[in-house]
Amino acid sequence: MAGVVLDGKKVSQEILAELKPRVKEITKRRGRAPCLAVILIGDNPASQIYVRNKIKACQELGIRGVELKPPGNISTDDLFEAVDPIIKDKSIDAILVQMPLPKQLRAEEVIPYIVDPFRDVDGFGIHSLGSLVVNRFAPRACTPAGIMQLLHRSKIPVADKHAVVVGRSDIVGKPMALMLLHENATVTICHSQTRNLAEECRRADILVAAIGKTALITRDFIKPGAVVIDVGMNRVSDRAQVQALFAHDAARLAAYEKNGSALVGDVEPLAMQELSSAYTPVPGGVGPLTIAMLMVNTVDLAEMH
Ligand code: NDP
Repeated sequence: MAGVVLDGKKVSQEILAELKPRVKEITKRRGRAPCLAVILIGDNPASQIYVRNKIKACQELGIRGVELKPPGNISTDDLFEAVDPIIKDKSIDAILVQMPLPKQLRAEEVIPYIVDPFRDVDGFGIHSLGSLVVNRFAPRACTPAGIMQLLHRSKIPVADKHAVVVGRSDIVGKPMALMLLHENATVTICHSQTRNLAEECRRADILVAAIGKTALITRDFIKPGAVVIDVGMNRVSDRAQVQALFAHDAARLAAYEKNGSALVGDVEPLAMQELSSAYTPVPGGVGPLTIAMLMVNTVDLAEMH
């Protein structure tokens, strides 16, 4: 029996609909809308799309979106000068710097300077991450927070389950593991040095793949009946690879023929569909939740202010 599709788009629309009255209330009470500032340095095409989508989400909710787009070759000092009006503008509730940064800029220097803990809408700062460790309120990293919402709203129990998270990045894997732990899952974190990865994954009731490697998680990694959350977003243009991955899915093959590439997760799609009890498709699973949770964090910060 095929696993149930966990529809991230639908859940994200629910979350966004719940935010609308909160945005209205804040706007009425303060006489100004919540405000998110997005700083995009350079012209990375993928980042441009992400930023466009974030600003669009703001507009749809009645949140004010402010964009600053310094050139890709900007020095650290010039960047600090350029962002000064944003840092000083107390009507801005939330700030994010779109990653990745150009090579000459160091994230550990730039991000803490621009994004203070009370406006850390991405939840990537040391203060936010530390608060997550001790389970106190602070903005939470959007992708794992969105996954928790998806699990809750899909009535998938977490407490006493064995969760395996593959990937230990500071923005997905580690916060994901902590959020599952706070909800009383027994958590295993795997990474590139993990021995017997398939064996570890097969022990999972809830398997989260946040690796960035196309369909690394195959049939052998999935316990039948597990819930599989595929965070990976890998753009694949190789025809043979796409044909092998989607031999069962004429619509996906047709979309590939039209676009010349396919978006594929970290989990082999057919294996996930056939073996899991529930799974997030790529696209349409985890992706839409990330922006919805960014909006939640913006509204939370505005309410806090
Ligand atoms: P990172 O590259 O920062 O981290 C990848 C992690 O995967 C690392 O911990 C790495 O281990 C581990 N890893 C790499 N290769 C292997 C392997 N062969 N076996 C086991 N573990 C391995 O990526 P991110 O966490 O930022 O993102 C992960 C994926 O999620 C990407 O595809 C990204 O595009 C996607 N993503 C999707 C989002 C969405 O909204 N849907 C949002 C954010 C990310 P080690 O630490 O040992 O190097």
